Amino acid sequence: MPPHEFSSPVLRVALPSPLRRLFDYLPAGEPPACGWQPGLRVEVPFGHRDVVGVVAELAEHSELPRHKLRTVGRALDNAPLPADWLWLCRFAARYYQHSLGDTLHHALPARLRQGYPVAGRTRTLWRQHPDAPAEPDFARARRQAELWALLGQHPHGLTTRAITAHGLTHDVLNRLLRKGLIERREVETAAPGHDSGSLLATPALPLNQEQSTVLAALHERLSDFHPCLVEGVTGSGKTEVYLQLIEAVIARGRQALVLVPEIGLTPQTLARFEKRFSVPVLALHSGLADAERLDVWEAAASGRARVIIGTRSAIFTPLADPGAIIVDEEHDGSYKQQDRLRYHARDLAVARAHYHGIPVVLGSATPSLESLDRALDGRYRHLHLTQRASRHPPARLELVDLRHQRRQGGLLPGTIRTINATLEAGKQVLVFINRRGFAPTLTCHACGWLAECEQCDARMTLHRAPPLLACHHCDSRRGLPDACPECASGDLRALGSGTERSEETLQTLFPDTVIHRIDRDSTRRKDSFARALKEIRRGEPCLLVGTQMLAKGHHLPHVTLVVVVNADGGLYSADFRAMEHNAQLLEQVAGRAGRAADPGRVLVQTQHPDDPHLIRLADQGYGALARELLEERRLAGLPPCGFMALLRVESPHADTAGALARDAAGALNHWLAQNATRARCLGPVPAPMERRQNRYHLHVMLSADRRSQLHAAASFITQWLEGSADARRVRWSLDIDPQSLA
Ligand code: ADP
Ligand code: ZN
Ligand code: ZN
Repeated sequence: MPPHEFSSPVLRVALPSPLRRLFDYLPAGEPPACGWQPGLRVEVPFGHRDVVGVVAELAEHSELPRHKLRTVGRALDNAPLPADWLWLCRFAARYYQHSLGDTLHHALPARLRQGYPVAGRTRTLWRQHPDAPAEPDFARARRQAELWALLGQHPHGLTTRAITAHGLTHDVLNRLLRKGLIERREVETAAPGHDSGSLLATPALPLNQEQSTVLAALHERLSDFHPCLVEGVTGSGKTEVYLQLIEAVIARGRQALVLVPEIGLTPQTLARFEKRFSVPVLALHSGLADAERLDVWEAAASGRARVIIGTRSAIFTPLADPGAIIVDEEHDGSYKQQDRLRYHARDLAVARAHYHGIPVVLGSATPSLESLDRALDGRYRHLHLTQRASRHPPARLELVDLRHQRRQGGLLPGTIRTINATLEAGKQVLVFINRRGFAPTLTCHACGWLAECEQCDARMTLHRAPPLLACHHCDSRRGLPDACPECASGDLRALGSGTERSEETLQTLFPDTVIHRIDRDSTRRKDSFARALKEIRRGEPCLLVGTQMLAKGHHLPHVTLVVVVNADGGLYSADFRAMEHNAQLLEQVAGRAGRAADPGRVLVQTQHPDDPHLIRLADQGYGALARELLEERRLAGLPPCGFMALLRVESPHADTAGALARDAAGALNHWLAQNATRARCLGPVPAPMERRQNRYHLHVMLSADRRSQLHAAASFITQWLEGSADARRVRWSLDIDPQSLA
């Protein structure tokens, strides 16, 4: 055997595969400049393809004999991927019992997964050469003199395109270049080096007393792990506090990472950050092209980007000099990824801040019970903002009894009168339709037939424009029947009220009023949404009709009446978080109103006006209700006062899914008994919607009083499933800290 084979290490590579193991390869050719190290991307043969993987470990030996190992095609990097990023991926893979290769794959920008180099795009800038004479003589070369003068006006440089737009040609550029009078520079597209001395582009607002207290508390510990919950009512100026904290962080030469919910990243939010700072502020959101995403990643990893704002996946942004992490609207459900790597960006933010030894600020008007629990028992510092910056208190909820009353498009006569009076007073009205578990369907009045999906245990949703029935769980669609498929009666009617029906009714009742619809569809078209918001901000009387989207972060200062058409969607569902989520939603919607001088009213129509939780929410607000709910969770041992993991099993065959779920639960129970742990296993039970897209879904629930117990059991069952031949015939996943039991 040639001697070099003894010295070359075995590369243990993480590959994009659900298998939780590494794959061994031998290095080939020249080692990269930095030598073989963990964190280098490599291209390797895997099955019949070449894939990009990341070296996770170096080893002296492999379990396989050396001659059986395949060799690495090539190293893609000259230096390992950022260490903080690698740490986070390893942490997430371990915590969520997920394959490291898959985790790294998920966390890499698409371009890096495809093997592109770790480099942002650059562009060429032309400028006068610093050593050129102040006034060179161009004699009769008029164009050259023109270009010289033009570049004189732009000391930072101009792009070739900008120069040719002035009617100057490449030929003129080349002549000056040859004379040594001008030079070209390559600068990064994202966050090009900036040399303005100041930090702020616009001055900070003078803070009120409460804001100053919170900011001072945050300033106290800028160089330590310092987890804080800022519980502040809607409009209390949390964002202003974040901005001033970030100012302090940047002033210390560090970077800030800001997470916002999916819809929160509207141009308005970003504009507010960009307007404040003169240093580069970069955004990461789903609308970016792959090349732009890599630009931001590289700018953050190199330290040029000082503030990075992004949605859930932005938690996987490498940072050269992290100084603080902020999670705005920390209760928001969009922080939890619901497939593959089922991570919670808020929880990873806290873990990451701990690793870096920096502050992490979780902010919300309606904190999750997870964060509230930690703030109440002192693990997080608890900071409060109880007053709105405008000093006008938020409106209280008024519960309105829906029972035994005539309704028009879901609205009570009294509600309609109040809407009318508000519009006549020249104000705006927001009508909120709670879509949770509540959408209009088609029913037969003769026999009671309901339009049901053939593939799911769900009703089809009725759409008016164009008229069709659609299943929101599997996306199947069909036309409206002319007659009932069961009894042939022609008396088919809409049941329930969706956005479209309420909008129709309101349009009939208020024909002269402009109605803006705000839901997932309308917010997806960014421009039209921005235009609608601009028009709404002008303050003309109008109606806003919408769903969940309305609850998120938009300031609607001219709205003085909020109507919640139906507060009960999902209220009595099997999910123990239903009340928490419903209350967050109601409080957030209510918070949109009365930001101007008029405090406004919030009418909440409900079938359950005597529900003690709803009454607590209406009388004392979210904070009081949340503390009560937390006490109930404690008594029941439910999260956050207990820990949970959910095993989901699905198959097109009910028997196969059932058998595997039973075997898994059996193995788990056996293991729990043997290990005398206090963790518990429940199930298998059918999922709340057992049949979905013609597949059968079952759950096995694992719960424990201690996280370590939960993780030991979760680790056992994952290994058991990975070793089970039967498990290969179904689809399964383990969700650590599930946010939804669906
Ligand atoms: P939150 O993030 O808590 O909803 P914001 O920071 O968006 O609150 O503030 C709500 C409104 O109050 C914004 O229009 C903001 O410009 C304004 N505001 C915040 N702090 C102050 C302050 N100290 N002085 C004056 N206006 C403020
Ligand atoms: Zn019928
Ligand atoms: Zn369906």
